[in-house]
Amino acid sequence: MLHAGTISYFYNKISSLRDKDMTIRTRFAPSPTGYLHVGGARTALFSWLYARKHGGQFILRIEDTDLERSTAESVNAILEGMTWLGLEYDEGPFYQTHRFDRYKEVIKQLIEQGDAYPCYCSKDELNDMRDQQRANKEKPRYDGRCRHLTSAKPGVEPVIRFKNPTTGTVIVKDEVRGEVEFKNSELDDLVIARPDGSPTYNLTVVVDDLDMGLTHVIRGDDHLNNSPRQINIFTALKAEPPVFAHVPMILGDDGARLSKRHGAVSVMSYRDEGYLPEALLNYLVRLGWSHGDQEIFSVDEMIALFDIDSVNKSASSFNTDKLLWLNQQYIKNSTAEHVAHHLSWHMGERSIDPVTGPNLAAVVELQQERAKTLVEMADNSCFFYQAVEEFDEKAARKNLTTKSQEILEEMLQRLSALELWQAEPIHKEVKDCSVDREIGMGKVAQPIRVAITGNTISPPLDLTLELLGRERTLSAIRYAIDWIKAKSSDLDGA
Ligand code: GLU
Repeated sequence: MLHAGTISYFYNKISSLRDKDMTIRTRFAPSPTGYLHVGGARTALFSWLYARKHGGQFILRIEDTDLERSTAESVNAILEGMTWLGLEYDEGPFYQTHRFDRYKEVIKQLIEQGDAYPCYCSKDELNDMRDQQRANKEKPRYDGRCRHLTSAKPGVEPVIRFKNPTTGTVIVKDEVRGEVEFKNSELDDLVIARPDGSPTYNLTVVVDDLDMGLTHVIRGDDHLNNSPRQINIFTALKAEPPVFAHVPMILGDDGARLSKRHGAVSVMSYRDEGYLPEALLNYLVRLGWSHGDQEIFSVDEMIALFDIDSVNKSASSFNTDKLLWLNQQYIKNSTAEHVAHHLSWHMGERSIDPVTGPNLAAVVELQQERAKTLVEMADNSCFFYQAVEEFDEKAARKNLTTKSQEILEEMLQRLSALELWQAEPIHKEVKDCSVDREIGMGKVAQPIRVAITGNTISPPLDLTLELLGRERTLSAIRYAIDWIKAKSSDLDGA
């Protein structure tokens, strides 16, 4: 937690930083009112990359002052999402609810220096004022009527309003948008403290961005309109505002703002659906930023190449097919150990502890070329750890017949007698069996595949059996033979 004493340090630090050797300090400041949204994750990524690129610091701040909407579960979801994505922060998480004394101190300071004042207007009064303005075809806004009050209204707890300048303009020098100009006459005196004394968003953000020594505020462009108000508060506090960069929003494939109705929007649902975090990061970095026509960026490349001024001004659309394609590339090209690390979570979800069977990285090596997601890979790898008890109906009808029973019996003999349990001799037995019987190798391989996997999908059979091990292979074949026998005696009896 930052204390009041820290502020003068940062004030000085900021002004000296602005000179030459500015240490970049960026932040991600989510409000914990839901899960970590992919849009938020992209903002966090941009801030993180910018800090990393410049050898600066990245700070996580939880904006939990809305006590009614903030939840501990949401804080945990945000922290979990950041960890899963690997967006490690150098400081924090800071919680705004821990800093109320500090905000109150600044509010007091603003009142004392004449930049803020109590407002006693009731809801009805404010509504009447706005109705009147609308009737006069004016933009509804607070007209500053309590600015000049000289005494308190007894029995009313006032809000505190910031005295916004009434003339002149505020220019937001935005790294993405360029210079955006706002007229002070368009901004009214915003509430900085509620009747119970609790501070509001625009005040807490300024105090924190200042106290935390932030040099760059990278955030969603839904906050662009807040920036002139915040700049005015910075000015009242005699501090220079940070550099702003407002990144455009993410749209769904129908052009509307990305939301739940477009499918998964929470970062953790992408883990659940079998994405690697690097694939999602790579996808997110390309949403609104590009470097030539390069599509695939390692995290190190992103850090080296990313720059905030090459972020697009216009919104970008989320394209799940492209994300899926990227995920497949990452699954294929990452080390088996890395994929196994993430796959083991999915195995756990299926109540499988990979220590009970073959090395998971070896399983990944067999599966990596074949899976688009880790969910697919996990589903198709369960058989390495769990004996199959039921067979896919169609696969069994075709491949577990009385005819294949004979083949399975012969292969049981052959494989039991093998000296060396390795892919090559296993392959030779399959081949010899097919030659002896004058049938295709598939006719021998497929019943075995169904016996061990329950269906017709597996990596090359010889490699699969080698990894599965002799005991598990033989017992799966025995189980399939018994299954066929039981089935045909059922049929005989019918
Ligand atoms: N807490 C705000 C939000 O989640 C962000 C504030 C900011 O970045 O300045 O939208």
